[in-house]
Amino acid sequence: MIIDIKVLQTAAYLFASILFILSLGGLSSQESAKRGVIYGMAGMFIAIASTVAGLGEGVKAEAYMYIGVAIGVASLIGIVVARKVEMTGMPQLVAILHSFVGLAAVLVGYGSYMDHMAHITPEELQEAPHIIHLIEVFIGVFIGMITFVGSIIAWGKLDGKIRSKPLLIPGRHAINGLMVVACFVLCYFFCNAESIEDGMMYLYIMTAISTYIGFMMVMAIGGADMPVVVSMLNSYSGWAAAAAGFMLGNDLLIVTGALVGSSGAILSIIMCKAMNRSFISVISGGFGDAPVASGEREIVGEVTATTHSEVAELLKEANNIVIVPGYGMAVAKAQYPIHDLVQRLQKQGKKVCFAIHPVAGRLPGHMNVLLAEANVSYDIVLEMDEVNDDLPETDVVMVVGANDIVNPGALEDKSSPIYGMPVIEAWNAKQVIVMKRSMATGYAGVQNPLFFKDNTDMLYGDAKDSIDKINAAINEAALV
Ligand code: NDP
Repeated sequence: MIIDIKVLQTAAYLFASILFILSLGGLSSQESAKRGVIYGMAGMFIAIASTVAGLGEGVKAEAYMYIGVAIGVASLIGIVVARKVEMTGMPQLVAILHSFVGLAAVLVGYGSYMDHMAHITPEELQEAPHIIHLIEVFIGVFIGMITFVGSIIAWGKLDGKIRSKPLLIPGRHAINGLMVVACFVLCYFFCNAESIEDGMMYLYIMTAISTYIGFMMVMAIGGADMPVVVSMLNSYSGWAAAAAGFMLGNDLLIVTGALVGSSGAILSIIMCKAMNRSFISVISGGFGDAPVASGEREIVGEVTATTHSEVAELLKEANNIVIVPGYGMAVAKAQYPIHDLVQRLQKQGKKVCFAIHPVAGRLPGHMNVLLAEANVSYDIVLEMDEVNDDLPETDVVMVVGANDIVNPGALEDKSSPIYGMPVIEAWNAKQVIVMKRSMATGYAGVQNPLFFKDNTDMLYGDAKDSIDKINAAINEAALV
């Protein structure tokens, strides 16, 4: 019995799609995340193998060689980059990977249009399949270019190469709206273009416009709102891949793109809720117009510093301890000594838990990944909402390299760029210890009134170094 290669390919695509769905399911919790990654890798292997195997009879042997070389080189780059990248560099890596998906959709769009126009007859120019294909190309290039440019700007902002302050040009919403209308008009002309030269001209103009939209959309976003942009670009990259799937007539790419697009959109909604922002204004690049920090309120109070041995003494007396990790914990790689500290305190019968803010660090789930890496038990890793109400009964809150996520200005100061964002209300605890190296601001660039409160003491220094010294002080006290 001879089985048609196309039938086999369809079965393989279906199997790969199921693996991708299982992968997303697995990635939804720390316990099953590794399994999720393995499902994803297996799905991608099957997807690539079945696509290459089903290329068809007319394909020359050298085409397979080019594909093999491309896969080999790309795999090598992927392995080297993934092995080299630090946890603190992950957000930038994710942003730049999104940009590749956008660029791929743009290139597929141009290639697909040129190929399509080279083979079309004058009669077919008015037929529906032709028009539908051109609309797919137009939308694919549009979304792809916005994703490509937007992700590069996001990479620059996350890497500190582009200032994180929002760039707000007057009337930008009206300009963006006009640009989108212009793209609709261009799409009409593009679909009716009779020559490839005319079509390419419309495509070039639209590419320039979507470059502008992608640039302005992310430039207008303030530093503290970047988490939503990262998840939104993740979603756009999925839709760009789905658009490429339509252009290439590849069902698996459509399904996979739609999975990434919709899961990214769900993540964006979750992040919007966490940041108290409106989803609609986010997807239109509109929420970056939060008041700029120029009118920052004067902070009253005095900053007091403490020492490692004083903190060890404080922890000895405490019964309830909450640890709030932030980006500085990732920089210092302090999660390992923190795990040791937690075990020591738990052995002494103290109640210890972690309070995780949804935008702590530089990636959704950043802190959860780091704590899981250090084998911290999941059941003491709680979300902000689970902890905030209990903080008034908490003896000590240890803020480890966090800043914006514990800033009371987010609740009180309307001139603050993070105003409206729910935060971990550390100041409600009996005593707060903030571990950081200086009085420098966090990612949003605003000073933190928490540091000036009467019940807050600053423990200056690298977070890992500080925790190591606290651990040593606790050990010494135990030996005495
Ligand atoms: P922040 O960036 O607000 O603050 C981190 C603090 O860590 C800094 O103030 C810094 O102070 C301190 N720090 C840096 N290195 C060390 C070190 N080695 N040891 C001790 N402390 C250190 O981080 P948060 O986690 O509080 O907030 C996250 C911010 O990032 C939010 O504004 C969020 O919107 C934004 N963001 C989040 C994303 C996400 O998806 N989670 C994505 C993009 C942006 P000092 O220099 O004095 O040590």
